Amino acid sequence: MIQSVAFIGLGAMGYRMAAHLPKHFKQVYVWNRNFAKAEQHAAEYPTQAVPLEQAVQADVIFSCLPTSQDVEALITPLTLKAGSIWVDCTSGVPESARKLASLLKTQQVDFLDAPVSGQTIGAENATLTFMVGGNVTAFERALPAMQAMGKLIQHVGESGAGFAVKAVNNMLMAVNLCAVAEGFSTLKAHGVSLNAALECINASSGKSAVTESVFPQRVLNRQFPLTFALSLLAKDTGIAQDLVREARLSTPVIGLTHSLIQAANSLAEEPGDFSTAIKMYESWSKITLE
Ligand code: NDP
Repeated sequence: MIQSVAFIGLGAMGYRMAAHLPKHFKQVYVWNRNFAKAEQHAAEYPTQAVPLEQAVQADVIFSCLPTSQDVEALITPLTLKAGSIWVDCTSGVPESARKLASLLKTQQVDFLDAPVSGQTIGAENATLTFMVGGNVTAFERALPAMQAMGKLIQHVGESGAGFAVKAVNNMLMAVNLCAVAEGFSTLKAHGVSLNAALECINASSGKSAVTESVFPQRVLNRQFPLTFALSLLAKDTGIAQDLVREARLSTPVIGLTHSLIQAANSLAEEPGDFSTAIKMYESWSKITLE
């Protein structure tokens, strides 16, 4: 039985995810590096803003930070409670999950790599997909806490498998983003209405999450709302590229897409949403996708 849950990292995802936990658990601790955000969370929801050392005494501890490097730096000096489970929702590096799982084992703590998909709207509606790697018994014990924030909670393999699935998922989205930018620039160059084309494609075999939601809701309306940073997508395509390299596979599309996303991130004048990667294509073609 889970008596207490903690959430560490109240960013775009974590703030919304942690909001669901008090509906299911009596004791919910929150901690954030900028502690004012934890206090704001506790004022808005029935959570408790506490020091990090206290938060990590919970039965199940969630974290959602930008990178595995951040998670490693946070966890390494901590003393945890034997029998607890650390569930890391960061989109992280598989090798780091294996390292943390063996490090925490020395404190009799399980580490699950449990990245999520579904964007901030999924976090808000508790409809996230969790792709989880690590010990199956720990997965089953932590399941009710993940169910409080997600819809599909899938164990995908040993430590690192969750991070690997997430990296490949985001790579597939990035491939689509680039392909859609190229395809729609071509259509506009030929004088085709992009809205009419989108309607046809969304009823045809070329449709994807990019054509169904990213393109109409972020690009064509020129809103580009910042909910998932382009720098984070570049981090994810980099993780996928490293996985390919480790497996010694020949994957030209993955390599090229990582280079394109990385270039778009470097060329961006200011931090922006992942959908602003389109603007790199627009600067090349001098065609605005609207
Ligand atoms: P944000 O940048 O919005 O939030 C990052 C959070 O991590 C903040 O709470 C920040 O604290 C904290 N943080 C940053 N660095 C450190 C550190 N060194 N030590 C401790 N805390 C730190 O990111 P998101 O919420 O968008 O993303 C978090 C993770 O989830 C990423 O791995 C991302 O790839 C993944 N993700 C994001 C999605 C999205 O739609 N946004 C969707 C699915 C996955 P502070 O407030 O102090 O800066």
